Amino acid sequence: MNDKKGEISERDLKIIEEIARNKKLTQREISRKAGVSLGMVNMSLKKLAKRGYVKIKGMNKRSLEYVLTPKGFTEKAKKSYRYFRNTLSSLRKIKAKIQSIILDEYVKGERKFIILGEGELADIVELSIKGLSMEDIKYKRVNSEREIKEKEVVVLATKERCRKISGVKCWISIPEKIVGDINLKYFESIKTKMQKKEKIMALDKELLKILVCPKCKGELEYKCTPEEEALICHKCRLIYPVKDGIPVMLIEEAKKF
Ligand SMILES: [Zn+2]
Repeated sequence: MNDKKGEISERDLKIIEEIARNKKLTQREISRKAGVSLGMVNMSLKKLAKRGYVKIKGMNKRSLEYVLTPKGFTEKAKKSYRYFRNTLSSLRKIKAKIQSIILDEYVKGERKFIILGEGELADIVELSIKGLSMEDIKYKRVNSEREIKEKEVVVLATKERCRKISGVKCWISIPEKIVGDINLKYFESIKTKMQKKEKIMALDKELLKILVCPKCKGELEYKCTPEEEALICHKCRLIYPVKDGIPVMLIEEAKKF
């Protein structure tokens, strides 16, 4: 599977996360908490120990401790960075798709939109409209079909099952429209990841504690914009790039400012 040199799989990451939380877990407990079979936990732990990500401490089998090494900790943070970044790029794709749906209606002359639904997808639809910055587009949000009184509108329905109101000029089911490009199950997993965002951001802070400027060994500032991700040393006036979620801590790769 995902077993390139030094790469850890999503399954390994789940195990690592449990160990980071509690080093006194037995393999059986890790298996239950991470939702990974006992055999897989055993195999993963051996692999992680061999790679130096996990240290196994203890004298007898009954009182083993699994400790995350600094190398394992950095790997875990790197991996979380990557998941977070992938999540953001998937959301950008969904947003772009929704914006193209809205623009298709706009060029037909439609200006009034109703967002039906109150979940995350409805939030993303609202963000997509706002992101278009078209002043003549008017929109409102409603939670139920019954609240739709206008007929001359484009309804952007975000619920998977909703009752189409007859007579409404244009009715678009967003889940149906995006399902070709983005699997809804995938969207669900993105949602879960977004809900975990806080946890991941806290991890980033922990990674920052470990990372220092290779030149002056000083503190770094983390900057993340949609265009670039970087670590900045204000003392040396150097910007270290973060490529594919991995900080490149090389003086010769850094940009001066
Ligand atoms: Zn420095």
